[in-house]
Amino acid sequence: MSESGAILVLSGPSGAGKSSLIKKIEESIGVFYFSISTTTRPMREGEVEGVHYHFVTKEAFQKDIEEENFLEYALVHGNYYGTSIKPVKEALKEGKIVIFDIDVQGHDAVQNRLGDITTSVFITTPSLKELKRRLSARGTDSQEVIDGRIQMATREVQRISEYDYLIINDDLDVAAAQLVAISHAARLKMPSMKISEFIHEWEANG
Ligand code: 5GP
Repeated sequence: MSESGAILVLSGPSGAGKSSLIKKIEESIGVFYFSISTTTRPMREGEVEGVHYHFVTKEAFQKDIEEENFLEYALVHGNYYGTSIKPVKEALKEGKIVIFDIDVQGHDAVQNRLGDITTSVFITTPSLKELKRRLSARGTDSQEVIDGRIQMATREVQRISEYDYLIINDDLDVAAAQLVAISHAARLKMPSMKISEFIHEWEANG
């Protein structure tokens, strides 16, 4: 049977440690493509264009929307974030696992369009208190931005049940091992089209 890719959606509050987790599992999950989103939010210190995001103006983002270049896009904390279709399609064709770090709205859209090949994980801190502590410790955002992220996180956790898995990122090593296990399972998820193809081949070789 021909190899085909799979999608792994990671969502969860900013400050839950998604980026650190992805960095930690890079070596252990085989060939993957991390989807680099496009955003209109200002660049944070330490971020690099084309690595963390493609940073664009609102006008450029609007143009991409009109040209239907996004698989999904959403307004998060007052800024636009979107996933470009083209590189995702190419990576899937190459049989790669495609990792998305997107919010709950993005997850909803990806489930609707590509649910058959999608596995999703919600990643969070053990408590709201710990999230507040981590966001303040990061020291990159103003209090106003932090408050917005906390409000958003409180809304997002209400939607955990929409996800296949929940990882509570208390100990980074434990959380990383859990995410590696899930990524292996994501590769084995079978879209219905592939199942029919497999049964057909299985019988043909009788
Ligand atoms: P941050 O500003 O902390 O990098 O990201 C803020 C939120 O936007 C996070 O919850 C992140 O998952 C989400 N996000 C990042 N890229 C995308 C995207 O392409 N689409 C959607 N829907 N959400 C995104």
